[in-house]
Amino acid sequence: MHRIILKPDREKALRRRHPWVFSGAIQTLEGAPAPGETVRVVDRDGRFLAWAGFSPVSQIRARVWSFAEEEIPGPELLRRKLETALALRKARIPAAATDAMRLIHGESDGLPGLVADRYADTLVVQFLSAGAEHWRDTLLGLLRELSGCARIYERSEADIRKLEGLAPREGWVAGSPAEAGGLVQINEYGLRYAVDIVSGQKTGFYLDQRDNRQRIAALARDREVLNGFCYTGSFTVAALAGGAHSVLSVDSSAPALQMARDNVARNALPGSSCEWLQADVFDILRALRDRGRQFDLIILDPPKFAPTPKDVARAARGYKDINLSALRLLRPGGLLATFSCSGAISPELFQKIVAGAAADAGASLVLRERWSAAGDHPILLEFPEGEYLKGLLLQRL
Ligand code: SAH
Repeated sequence: MHRIILKPDREKALRRRHPWVFSGAIQTLEGAPAPGETVRVVDRDGRFLAWAGFSPVSQIRARVWSFAEEEIPGPELLRRKLETALALRKARIPAAATDAMRLIHGESDGLPGLVADRYADTLVVQFLSAGAEHWRDTLLGLLRELSGCARIYERSEADIRKLEGLAPREGWVAGSPAEAGGLVQINEYGLRYAVDIVSGQKTGFYLDQRDNRQRIAALARDREVLNGFCYTGSFTVAALAGGAHSVLSVDSSAPALQMARDNVARNALPGSSCEWLQADVFDILRALRDRGRQFDLIILDPPKFAPTPKDVARAARGYKDINLSALRLLRPGGLLATFSCSGAISPELFQKIVAGAAADAGASLVLRERWSAAGDHPILLEFPEGEYLKGLLLQRL
């Protein structure tokens, strides 16, 4: 059996059940494991710590499948983990609420590098670690059986696979693509959305914002809404369904805006109260101020400004900039729903950044609610990196 022997004092993270073994923590590698093969991780005295999938080129040299010596990675263990993940969704998300959800959320479900999102009868999967790739056939068979989805599309993000030394891979792996252009229809709390599983963002839709869409719907009545970074308009649809007076939606992507318009039409919502702008949010917020525009509810859900810890300072300036500009458009009594999905920006830091923006805008804000990702994106205490999505609902006094 291949073995990784850790350096003295480098076993602490594993003892806290954190699932990553960094290359710098390794004293010796015994044997010659192939990419993704299982290795036994031990401390310097040879005591068992974990079973992990080996990744020869990644900085994260191995990812843990189990912390119990008797739980040797294989079809049985993987089945158990998948079943646990599915049971968690069943317990947390009412069956009638939606036919779209994240079934497997990688490390946060004890399955490093594996993502599986269900969109109606289609499953979109990502194999993002050498270990997950190693068990690909087993995992695909189990996912097909346990999810009941006959159609499976693989959309493994090329950049992440590259870090793991894996070749890019996308395409149908099971079933036939019945829908045109990769569009799948989903239904979430009675609202319908088209999801572009082939070329949309992430695996096509921001499933993690489900609960926050519900909150926006509940808060939107009679409000003039600005939805910045609207993508395919999920917050726009939610706000209109909640009785918003009007929604101005902004995104830099023309195809996303077209899908957003289609989603409004799909739900027979009043397109007449919609305004669409293809623009850079940073610029348009200033331009709207110059035009004297004001809003009662502003949503800011930008892309990840800090993909890695070294981007934090630049990202912080970006978050501050858009929040400051947005606050200048917010009427007294109005609501700001502001998000960061950068794992490298902690909830505390994000709140500080927004507080800084409020001070510069001369605005006093009441923190009404803290939001996070929906229950199909579980947060494991031992893997704090999984708590990436932070939302603040603020009211201007
Ligand atoms: N709120 C959306 C998800 C946003 S994803 C939802 O709930 O579905 C981020 C979006 O920001 C993408 O659609 C991307 O096209 C857009 N985007 C990125 N940078 C931008 C910028 N500077 N100005 C406007 N839109 C931008």
